[in-house]
Order: sequence, then structure tokens, then C-alpha cells
Amino acid sequence: MANWQCVKQCGACCNLDPAERPDLEEYLSPAELAQYLSMVGEDGWCINFDHSSRECSIYPNRPRFCRVEPETFQDMYGVEPEELDDFAIDCCREQIEGVYGDRSLEILRFNKAIGF
Ligand code: SF4
Ligand code: SF4
Repeated sequence: MANWQCVKQCGACCNLDPAERPDLEEYLSPAELAQYLSMVGEDGWCINFDHSSRECSIYPNRPRFCRVEPETFQDMYGVEPEELDDFAIDCCREQIEGVYGDRSLEILRFNKAIGF
């Protein structure tokens, strides 16, 4: 089993375009959904995403739904801790391929980092 990890110079999951995430209401509380929508910029990217560094400008204070942590994923998606790596890897792949493409440098770097 591969271990999930976030790679630098990605940020694909900070593209929050709700049109690409039709099931938001299934895993976010009403308050979180409001917070999520308040963070979506006109271009679909999170307003807290720094495009030059490709990093989160509020990282220590980012919302719960931005955190890849066992408790969060169990609460939001019903994923057991032992399934977290596989689930998070699938999420990242889907998001990276959707934002940057399935032959992008970003997906190549992610696959390499997790050992695929
Ligand atoms: S999509 Fe995955 S690898 Fe890319 S920034 Fe988000 S968590 Fe990190
Ligand atoms: S708050 Fe930070 S981690 Fe969450 S989507 Fe925005 S830029 Fe990304």
C-alpha cells in the first residue's frame, strides 16, 4: 500500500470550483458549506491560494475540510483510518488530473512521490 503525501508546487485541491464538486452538501455542514463558498474566487480558485508559491496563505488556520487527517476524513467521508492513504491518493489524483491534466508535470510528480 502506498503512503499518501502532499507534494510541493501542486495546489490542485485549492481549486474549489463548486461545479466540479457537486456533492459538497453531502460532507460539509451548512456552516462549512457557507465558509467553503465564501472562499471561492471568480476564477474558481480559493482566495487564500497564493498562485506564485502555490501555497496556502492561511495554512495553520485553514478550515477543517482542507485537512487530510484521520479524524476529519472519518467524519466527512466515513473513511476508516487504515483506508486514509488509498482514499486520499484517489482524491489527489482526481483533483490533479481535473485541474492540470492526466499527463501534467503535477500528476507525474505526485505519482513519483507516492511510489507509483
Ligand atoms: S491535490 Fe494533493 S498533492 Fe496536490 S496540493 Fe492538494 S493535497 Fe497536495
Ligand atoms: S484555505 Fe488554503 S488549503 Fe484550503 S483551499 Fe484555500 S488555499 Fe487551499
